[in-house]
Amino acid sequence: MTLDQTLRQRLDARCRHNLYREVKTLDSVPGPLARVNGRELLAFCSNDYLGLATRPEVIRAQQTGAELGTGATASHLVNGHLQIHQQLQHKLAEVTGREAALVFSSGYMANLGTLCALLGRADNIISDKFNHASLIDGARLCGAYSLRFPHNDLEGLHRQLQRAAGRGGNTLVAVDGVYSMDGDLAPMAEIAGLCRAYGAWLMVDEAHGFGVMGSEQWPLAGSCAAVGLGQSEVQAIMGTLGKAAGNAGAFVAGSRTLIDYLVQFARPYIYTTGMPPAVAAGCVAAIDLMRSEPQLARRLEENIAYFRRRAAQQQLPLTDAPGAIQPLPIGCAETVMTVSAALERRGFMVGAIRPPTVPAGTARLRITLSACHSHCQIDALLDALSAVLRENHAVCR
Ligand code: PMP
Repeated sequence: MTLDQTLRQRLDARCRHNLYREVKTLDSVPGPLARVNGRELLAFCSNDYLGLATRPEVIRAQQTGAELGTGATASHLVNGHLQIHQQLQHKLAEVTGREAALVFSSGYMANLGTLCALLGRADNIISDKFNHASLIDGARLCGAYSLRFPHNDLEGLHRQLQRAAGRGGNTLVAVDGVYSMDGDLAPMAEIAGLCRAYGAWLMVDEAHGFGVMGSEQWPLAGSCAAVGLGQSEVQAIMGTLGKAAGNAGAFVAGSRTLIDYLVQFARPYIYTTGMPPAVAAGCVAAIDLMRSEPQLARRLEENIAYFRRRAAQQQLPLTDAPGAIQPLPIGCAETVMTVSAALERRGFMVGAIRPPTVPAGTARLRITLSACHSHCQIDALLDALSAVLRENHAVCR
């Protein structure tokens, strides 16, 4: 068979199982209104939790940044980078309460690069089964002995720490702070306690925590800060700039030594073109807004509480997700597609999540809330959801 024939067979199998995914072409960034083929839809699918992707101040800063040159023109170690990159890293370290931070071109690369730089064949990596794909791929690629534990199961983690201790080598535990498809939080304080007891290092993916939760002192730092954990308990945090910051790129923050080490050994940092100066300038402006407008995160929190209260009144099947990601369990991949299409016909954009992103039989709608949604828009979504689920006899578990 030719390459194309082989690939066509595999693609056809995906279609038959209702697992084929398409890329929508939008006319504008969903924030929270999106234009698709000239039609306006109310979007509940973006990770732009604070509405910063469309803020005029950020757009202007990014336009001005582009005047420094459209691209970084080479990798950081070949060309160096600009003051604006340094400024961004400095601000990221400051808002996360870390000694230093390093900017990567994406969260995927930051996770892959950090795990591969820190661990080798003699070491152990312990992961939650629901970790983001980038941590899973990093765990595979780094070559360390890989151990997994059931989602948020502390007993399971404990057992794997004992096994790793028996093997020797360094052990790193990697978890998401907020799980991207389930919206629940890791029991961070307990995980950090177990890591301390076993002398294991801890890395936390704060993609969905950065910018929207934290402590009084570091309100933007994420889920670890929210339970009082700092650099000595969580040696590496990864935060993305494509979600609450509304832009692109990511960072790892930790000790000065960790960051010095990553500059030397993290291959996805070393062998890739640096972040465009305009993006760095936009991210700096976004972080300045996050700091000067704490009401954005409060408004998001209020919207989450409103959504959950109203959804419970309508007896929609909520999970215990406390944050901006509110999954609605459906189960069957075909049904979730039908429901999502019906919502779109009614004017709503909601993500339909199917395997392989989530385990088979656990397809779901992934509703994401933003500080910019009005209560009226949330009500409209909930009314549409109730009607569509009823019409489709969607089995919710
Ligand atoms: N980690 C988590 C938990 C995520 O949800 C994502 C984005 N889907 C990433 C990492 C990757 O980040 P990026 O989009 O910047 O590559």
